[in-house]
Amino acid sequence: MYPSSIQKLIESFRSLPGVGEKTAERYALSVSEMEPEKVEQFALALNDVRTKLKRCSVCGNLSDQDECEICRNPDRSHKQIFVVQSPKDVIAMEKAGEYRGVYHVLNGVISPSKGVMPEDLEIDKLVERAANCEEVILATSNTMDGETTAMYLDRLLREQCPDLLVTRIAHGLPAGGLLDYADEMTLAYALSNRRSMK
Ligand SMILES: [Zn+2]
Repeated sequence: MYPSSIQKLIESFRSLPGVGEKTAERYALSVSEMEPEKVEQFALALNDVRTKLKRCSVCGNLSDQDECEICRNPDRSHKQIFVVQSPKDVIAMEKAGEYRGVYHVLNGVISPSKGVMPEDLEIDKLVERAANCEEVILATSNTMDGETTAMYLDRLLREQCPDLLVTRIAHGLPAGGLLDYADEMTLAYALSNRRSMK
């Protein structure tokens, strides 16, 4: 049995995805052997993530400031919006390095079975932004809820912004998989093979 200070740390690590008992023990023991300054930095980083991190007021991506780095970047096309379910999808897409426009995070997908309705998502804001855009790329997952959401958004956007091009990424994503599980090649393919919703 570990002293309770270590035991508490083990339990904290265990709450992370993909960390089992053995790994949590290894992490906790290695923290106990770290230089005091290192431990302090670590604790501070954990705390900062909670206190400093917020959602970008424009696109909903994670950010330390009111507007995220992508929205603030003048070198990116602000006429092209890539619509995703969560900030994780933004990170995956940015890793692929193929996309030069901006994003919009919906914060989920429409799912009648889970009680998620359009008004629960960041859809009004998307329509508002789309009014000043040339293209909206729908990149919700290829699950039934993801497809329903894409169809709903396509109809709504074409109604509200008749001149807007609405596209859907190609189905190169794993069946039922979320965007953040797809590898970078798949994402690049899915982007370059997107098609018009019409
Ligand atoms: Zn942003």
